[in-house]
Amino acid sequence: MPSYAFLHKQFVPLEEAKIGVMTHALHYGTAIFEGIRGNWNSLKQQVYLFRLKEHYQRLLRGCCLLRINLPYTADELCQITIELVRKCAFKEDIYIRPLAYKSSQALGVRLHDLEDDFLVFATPWGRYLDTDKCRCTISSWRRPEANVIPPQAKITGLYINNAFAKTEAMAKGFDEAIMLAPDGHISEGSGENIFLVIDGKLVTPASYNSILIGITRDTVIKLAQNELGVETIERPIDRSELYTAQECFLTGTAAHITPVAEIDHYQIGDGKAGKITAKLKKIYAEVIKGNHQKYQSWCTAVYKK
Ligand code: PMP
Repeated sequence: MPSYAFLHKQFVPLEEAKIGVMTHALHYGTAIFEGIRGNWNSLKQQVYLFRLKEHYQRLLRGCCLLRINLPYTADELCQITIELVRKCAFKEDIYIRPLAYKSSQALGVRLHDLEDDFLVFATPWGRYLDTDKCRCTISSWRRPEANVIPPQAKITGLYINNAFAKTEAMAKGFDEAIMLAPDGHISEGSGENIFLVIDGKLVTPASYNSILIGITRDTVIKLAQNELGVETIERPIDRSELYTAQECFLTGTAAHITPVAEIDHYQIGDGKAGKITAKLKKIYAEVIKGNHQKYQSWCTAVYKK
C-alpha cells in the first residue's frame, strides 16, 4: 500500500521524503517528536486517532522550549495528520510520528538563528512491548534532572538516555528498563510511565520525578477514577516499593497498558496481570478503539462516512 509523508509543507510519497545530510537536528538532536496511535475498528471500518490534539499541544510546548517556530496551530497540525492518514488509507493499527526539527543545513551547536520544519508520517505498527507479562530491571542509567535536559519534552537528543537504558535491559535478558530519577526515586520506563497498585490505590511518580507527563498516564488516572472509583496518588516512589507492589504496569502510546510480571527477579503479585491492571487494560482497549461512548471525544475518526 502506498504510504505518504508530510514534509516541507507538502504531502509526498514516503520513499521520496528525504532530508539533507547537513540537517541541524540530525547532528545535535534539536527536534521534538511525538508518537500518536491510530486504532483500527473493523466493525466501524474506521481508524480513530487517540487524543490527537493533546499530542500536538505537548509538541508545541516542546517547540517553545527548543525555539522552534511552526507556522501551524495545534488544530492545523491535527488536520494535516487526518489528511495524511486518509491519503494512506490504512485499515489496521497505525503509529504516527510527527517531528518538529531544526532544518537548517548549518553547523554549530545552538537553538537560535536556524530554520524550522515539521514532518509527519504514519506506519502500520502493532504491539510495542511484545509480551503480556513484561520483565523489567532497574537501569544503571538515570533520567536527567530538569536542569540538564527537561524530561517533560520529547526532545530527540534526550532519547539517547532512554536508548542506553533499553539496550542495557535487553542485553541482560529483560524486556524493559525502569530508570531512576537523579535523586534515586523511581522515574519511568524507557518509553513508558509506571504505575503500582498499593493497598487498592494507584501510585505513580509525580511530575517532579523526571518523567514525561504521559497522555496514556493521564488517560489511566481518569479511567481508574471514573470507571473503577480507584484513586491515583502522585508521589516519589522508593525502589523497594516497586519490588513489593501488589500490581505494576507500564503505560504509553506505543505500549498501551502493559502488565509487569517481574522486576529484577522479584515476582510482582502472582506474576500475572493483577485485578485492577486487567480491568484498566480491558476498558482502555475499548476506549482507544472508539467503542466507549463516554470517551468518544478522545477519538478522532479519520475516514468520512
Ligand atoms: N515516558 C517516556 C520517556 C516516553 O517516551 C513515553 C512515550 N511518549 C511515555 C513516558 C508515555 O507517554 P504517552 O503516554 O504520552 O505516550
